[in-house]
Amino acid sequence: MRKFTITLIFLLASFSIYANNLFNHYFEDKTLRINYLHIGNKNQENIIFADFIVRKGWFGTRSELIDPYHYGDILIEVFDNITDKLIFSRSYSCLFTEYRTTERGKTEIAKMEECVNIPLPRQTFKIRISSYDRKRIATILKDTTLNPSTITFKYAKKDHKVRRLHLGNSPKKAIDILIIPDGYSKNNKLLLKYDLKRFASYIMKCSPYKELRKHVNIRAIVGYSEQSGITQPQNNFFVNTLLNCTYNTIDLDRYLMCPGVWNLHDIADDAPYDAIIIICNSDKYGGGGIYNFYCTVYNHGDYPDYVIVHEMGHLIGGLADEYYTSEVSVQDFYPEGVEPTEANLTTLVNFESKWKNKIDSNTIIPTPEVGKEHPDYNKVGLYEGGGYVAKGVYRPSLHCTMNSIVYNDFCPVCKETLEKIIKYYSK
Ligand SMILES: [Zn+2]
Repeated sequence: MRKFTITLIFLLASFSIYANNLFNHYFEDKTLRINYLHIGNKNQENIIFADFIVRKGWFGTRSELIDPYHYGDILIEVFDNITDKLIFSRSYSCLFTEYRTTERGKTEIAKMEECVNIPLPRQTFKIRISSYDRKRIATILKDTTLNPSTITFKYAKKDHKVRRLHLGNSPKKAIDILIIPDGYSKNNKLLLKYDLKRFASYIMKCSPYKELRKHVNIRAIVGYSEQSGITQPQNNFFVNTLLNCTYNTIDLDRYLMCPGVWNLHDIADDAPYDAIIIICNSDKYGGGGIYNFYCTVYNHGDYPDYVIVHEMGHLIGGLADEYYTSEVSVQDFYPEGVEPTEANLTTLVNFESKWKNKIDSNTIIPTPEVGKEHPDYNKVGLYEGGGYVAKGVYRPSLHCTMNSIVYNDFCPVCKETLEKIIKYYSK
């Protein structure tokens, strides 16, 4: 047994050295952020590069440079120019994809800011950006070759104080969560201090984050806005803030998002980050979260503890909304005959790839809803209704933080997905 343990430790150490050597062969210990515009509507889309920003350090995983999950709608692939070998990939979802499924998105052209962080390649590289529609059909939006020695780079500047709220492992061995405040003026200094602590504790008291304390870092940017509050266009309330976050995104009253993605990342560059959470100084219920993009949460009211961990479910786990009764403006988000990418929904097209093996043999399928007094509250089954529709889409559990307004109540499937991804950042 002892010999086996020593052999295993030796193998793991060897793999770690190999992975690090491979990283060093292709990349510098720097991050290249490519800013671009995502332009179009339901029928057309395009990407136009804008800026190349370099900063010291690569804070993501070095042993799994190829994205093993591909939960997002956009896939970034980096290839070595000489061998054509895929050396890095990353996937994320974006507001543009949601916009395309709205009524306005059928005809009106939108222009949205996006960006991606990649480790800076040492040599000339190819980069391909593909967009996957709701039927998972890919369109290549950009396929180009870039030479780091001829690119005109901008360099990230340090402008803000960074506060450490929870420290686990080093940034290379943990998911680095960065909180950025919006709508806090200098008159709100004490409130900001209080809120940063409060929201960090909402995260760390929720499963699975609390069990994975060493795999999580939480830092915050101490950044103030010119004015207090958050813009609500539908109420004719406009304020000048650090991030210019706004309600009524894609015409949804409670959908609170940040249109200035480049500015957001300029500010985020002051700290290591894998995931960005924006805390908005507002008493109007709202939030939003998109996989590997960013998430937002309001600060005053009854449910910000629930909203932050729910939106982080989208941001970090790529989890879907399990509810189907609330106001949404997206249409045909889960088309018939296509298995959703999200781990917590199925259309039964490929249920084997989801949670089928977690259902007891004595559980009825589809599982009937028997009300809130269900004796097996969090038991995994196959419940019809989820992803904004009542029929044809199924969820794993009667209740879950991705479904109802309950803090710290992720169903076993959502919890396991979050655990897997948090650990992925720690490799
Ligand atoms: Zn769930």
